[in-house]
Amino acid sequence: MSTDPVFSIENLHLRIRQFEGEAHILNGVNLHLRAGERVALVGESGCGKSSTAMMSLGLMEARSMRAEGRIILDGTDLLSLRRRGWQGVRGRQISMIFQDPGAALNPVFTVGDQLVTAIRRGNPSKSRSDAQGLATDGLRQVHINDPERVMSSYPFQLSGGLNQRVLITMALINRPKVVVADEPGSALDVTVQEQTLRLMTELCADVDAAVLLISHNLGVVRRFAQRIYVMYSGTIVEEADTATLFSAPRHPYTKALLAAVPRLTGERLPEPIPGRVPDYTDPPVGCRFRPRCPHQRSECVDPPFAEPAPGHRVRCVL
Ligand code: SF4
Repeated sequence: MSTDPVFSIENLHLRIRQFEGEAHILNGVNLHLRAGERVALVGESGCGKSSTAMMSLGLMEARSMRAEGRIILDGTDLLSLRRRGWQGVRGRQISMIFQDPGAALNPVFTVGDQLVTAIRRGNPSKSRSDAQGLATDGLRQVHINDPERVMSSYPFQLSGGLNQRVLITMALINRPKVVVADEPGSALDVTVQEQTLRLMTELCADVDAAVLLISHNLGVVRRFAQRIYVMYSGTIVEEADTATLFSAPRHPYTKALLAAVPRLTGERLPEPIPGRVPDYTDPPVGCRFRPRCPHQRSECVDPPFAEPAPGHRVRCVL
């Protein structure tokens, strides 16, 4: 695996003007992915994970939005792209697997039409029949035994599991460098979610694509990711390789997240995290976890990043 990042987010801030005031949703996010790497971004709902994903694909569009920082994909700053610029990038160099395949696929076009359009958008010189052949092969790769039937079906004629495989095919058909997967399969049952992650791992490895998995499910993340970023209220508070994060978490929020995971063995009850994610229009000054942290003190107004071990970074004064 190359050590140079293929994708990086640098000091990303996102502010959206709302009726109640300006919401500072992303607060200096930094993360990177290397080619072929599987990385997870975790945190409670409302912590900014999906906003990070949407910003990475230029899908966040609000007239009152203000973004600062850089999102670099293979040397290009995606934040500087206008609508036309995105056409050569989205679905071609970076693609997304959404949570709910039923909502992500267009119900008025057949699966075949949607796959062929995705292929030809990435490779305008491909003929329709070549694209159809590629789409059929792509469906076989996700272990669909009767791709011709699926190609001629509308999404509502297929099961959620089949639609999820169609979405994976669509995301990977143009061999992107980066795939962002936002809670893939979590709208379906646990078995489908497991299959989705297995297929995604297998196919991304085949094309050497880096994956950013957005999830609040630490059990899934532990099995899938090689590295993890923990996000709280629009800020990355800890990053480490998966083994380290689970065996030696350092940030109080990471510890609280891990303590909140239900155990099958029942040796102890999960402990919910007291309090809630702060209001983005009026977040606490300094460490945003302060109102919920049992260790808060006066120095928490400006916590630095500490590096207890190479590759393990924690934003906390402790
Ligand atoms: S910086 Fe302070 S408030 Fe924030 S997590 Fe660390 S100890 Fe808690």
